[in-house]
Amino acid sequence: MWRLDCGTLYFPDLNLVSDTFAFSGQSKTLTDSCYLIQHGQTYMLWDTGLGAELIGHPLTLPNGVRFSVKHSLVEQLARIGITPEQISLIAVSHMHGDHTGQAASFPKARLLIGNGDFKQLTSTSPDAVANEMMRDAARLKPWLVDHSPLEAIVGDKDIFGDGSIIMLDTPGHTPGHHVLLVRLPKSGAFVLTGDLIHVAEQLPTHELTPFNTNRADTLASQKRVQDILKNLKATLIIQHEPADIAKLPAFPQPAE
Ligand SMILES: [Zn+2]
Repeated sequence: MWRLDCGTLYFPDLNLVSDTFAFSGQSKTLTDSCYLIQHGQTYMLWDTGLGAELIGHPLTLPNGVRFSVKHSLVEQLARIGITPEQISLIAVSHMHGDHTGQAASFPKARLLIGNGDFKQLTSTSPDAVANEMMRDAARLKPWLVDHSPLEAIVGDKDIFGDGSIIMLDTPGHTPGHHVLLVRLPKSGAFVLTGDLIHVAEQLPTHELTPFNTNRADTLASQKRVQDILKNLKATLIIQHEPADIAKLPAFPQPAE
């Protein structure tokens, strides 16, 4: 498993990840990490980060949130000799634009996405395209419009049927949100959080971002993941937390 740099998010107000105003006066730079995982001869991506159009053109929202990207996914994969055509599977934690941004660089890959998110993307609700960053549906045009292979996941999904890589149903942030359990032969088990948790500061008091589709579901999903971490002695990787992604080797070194 390789961790990839899929962008940076600057939050001028860290209360963007607390609906109880726990972080007043604090700001933070978050990572936007995504992952290449090799299973036998198959290469899959977990999340695809922010859009590559941000390279050299960072975007600042009216609330001061800044998105930037340095290197495209395709460019990083090329560094380890992987072509876009070799990516046969993309699994996403959820539909938001900082997790689906570069999916369309792999238009032939099979997309695995939670059914709750798929239903929202394909409904006509304007809520599905809430703001600039969340132009989710357009990001996934190869699958939503052009009929590339897509699987809408209900519940958990043991991707290869051997328990090594499992999408765990963890709704709340979005209706179809999933985290990824990855069990590596040498390095052990990891849970990649998607947006179930955004930053380490949230952990002690279970702070939640104000943008959850269901707050209670998110708390229940966090409890499930905490129990899994304990039972499997797994390592938590909060994808947006710089200190957490540093638990994995720096690219191009893989965790084996
Ligand atoms: Zn995110």
